[in-house]
Amino acid sequence: MDRPTLAIIIPCYNEELCVKTTVTTLLNLLDKLVEKGKIKQDSYLYLVDDGSKDKTWSIIVSLNQTDKRVKALKFIRNFGNQKALIAGLEGVRGIGCDCAVSIDADLQQDENSIEEFIDEYMKGADIVSGIRNDRKTDSFFKKFTALAFYKTMNILGAKIPPNHSDYRLVSKKALDIMELYPEKYLFLRGFFNEVGLKTSYVHFNVKPRMAGQSKFNFVSLMGLALNGITSYSVVPLRFVTVLGFCMALFGFLVGVETVIEKIFWHNSPNGWATTIILLCVFGGIQLFCLGLIGEYVGQVYREVKGRPRYIKDIELK
Ligand code: UDP
Ligand code: MG
Repeated sequence: MDRPTLAIIIPCYNEELCVKTTVTTLLNLLDKLVEKGKIKQDSYLYLVDDGSKDKTWSIIVSLNQTDKRVKALKFIRNFGNQKALIAGLEGVRGIGCDCAVSIDADLQQDENSIEEFIDEYMKGADIVSGIRNDRKTDSFFKKFTALAFYKTMNILGAKIPPNHSDYRLVSKKALDIMELYPEKYLFLRGFFNEVGLKTSYVHFNVKPRMAGQSKFNFVSLMGLALNGITSYSVVPLRFVTVLGFCMALFGFLVGVETVIEKIFWHNSPNGWATTIILLCVFGGIQLFCLGLIGEYVGQVYREVKGRPRYIKDIELK
């Protein structure tokens, strides 16, 4: 196989403190890889500004003026990291490349692993997923929630290896297949795992964030997790059905038992505590199930509206 043209996709949201260093580091990396004969000279960076409110875009513009290998796209407003990644993948497919790697703007993922990604690609992998060596840089809370998420996803049948990240290489073939999936809320980690292309894994080291703050909070992480679950599994809905059936059966049996007691032993049921507890427990379960179904209805609602995934403002090629 001929050595590839590589595109590196970098989603950026309010990254004025990181973006310049990141671009310089990655351009040096491209030079190094070209020198080693691993990639073609026309390899480039593709930055997606996810509606930053700080100086990120003006920094990107000046970087683009000094080096045309810095290509970029600006969103009209913030659409979130997944949309920025999707836009990046679609963007580089439009410009042209043999494979694309996505990496965070704070370079928390060790960029030197890209060389290993390319080696795996040359061996025939269409997808090379980066797996974190550890989560030392994450808070206890994030470690715990991430683990819970991966465990849940695996139980629900969407096989995603734990410590998976959006640091991965995808081939042109994978990009072409992605175009066949019109769903607006495509969950990339699920998608690339499920699609059935030849996949390799590369372990990489995680560094602390270079500068600035994490752009994710509890609410956005919950949103990502719920979207991941509802777009890749219907098992929770089946669980609701089974649970509802079991509860109804239980209620019926208790009813039968009460009637029998009343007729044969003339006992009237007593114990208000039991009633209150059962009421709360079953009320809670019902609300939970309703919410769960609501999540799926919401997913359908968002897809059915057919709104664009993102809106481009400016593109620098
Ligand atoms: N990001 C984005 N849009 C957002 C939030 C984040 O494009 O709405 C980008 C961000 O600029 C960074 C990447 O997504 O390049 C990962 O974000 P961050 O480093 O804040 O997340 P963490 O490493 O804490 O998971
Ligand atoms: Mg980060």
